[in-house]
Amino acid sequence: MHLTVLGSGTSHPHPTRSSTSFWLETAAGSVLLDCSAAAIHRMAQERLPWAELDAIWISHFHLDHIGGLAPFLFGMKHAAETEERRKPLTICGHLGLKALFDAVDTAGNYRLLEQNFPVDIVEVSEGDAFTLIDGVAARVYKTPHKPESLAIRLDDGENVLVFTSDTGFDPKIGEFAADSDLFVIESSFVANKVVDTHLELSEAMELTSIARPKRALLNHLYPEWDDVKFEDLARGFSPPCEVLLAFDGMTIEI
Ligand SMILES: [Zn+2]
Ligand SMILES: [Zn+2]
Repeated sequence: MHLTVLGSGTSHPHPTRSSTSFWLETAAGSVLLDCSAAAIHRMAQERLPWAELDAIWISHFHLDHIGGLAPFLFGMKHAAETEERRKPLTICGHLGLKALFDAVDTAGNYRLLEQNFPVDIVEVSEGDAFTLIDGVAARVYKTPHKPESLAIRLDDGENVLVFTSDTGFDPKIGEFAADSDLFVIESSFVANKVVDTHLELSEAMELTSIARPKRALLNHLYPEWDDVKFEDLARGFSPPCEVLLAFDGMTIEI
């Protein structure tokens, strides 16, 4: 697997951290993990083959995670790059994704599913195990953030990546991520978090200690992370593995 960080930030406008999105290249195809409004241009900036994307995972319906989905399909519909495309695009998320998508599509009469290729919207629920694309097995786990929020565990037969997306603290998320090669975990706040539905560094580190992944990647970083000396802070928690702080444009060979 190979991961490109498109957006390491949150909904908060920030000069260098755009909202959540990751491009994951697996042994079997490419997956976009969340699709913020910035993601569609960030893919182009990183010279990624967006017209060939195989699947989009939507972790929950907050706009910093789904705001680019309709615009991306609108862009694909009118782009020369997708004229010859015939392979399907899978869009996967919690039950309710189709209704939300249809509401946007109908409101503007965009007909976003009428493309040169099939677009399959697949809805899943807490605890489901399924095939995201041929060759990539997925499992999801309910996270304490929004009613539809899910963490996802992806296995392409060579590597395992777990993506929490936005979440409050639940030690079982650490168990869900056990022995992963890369644990992509939110750490919205440095300390003294103001809401229960996100994590601060000490909690992200605790989940990392439970999961014992090969590496962990902290993301969904609010501006309070600016100017923090991360390496010094992280060392204080004696993590069981290397822990990286995401930045837009970062690439990781998994
Ligand atoms: Zn968010
Ligand atoms: Zn959220």
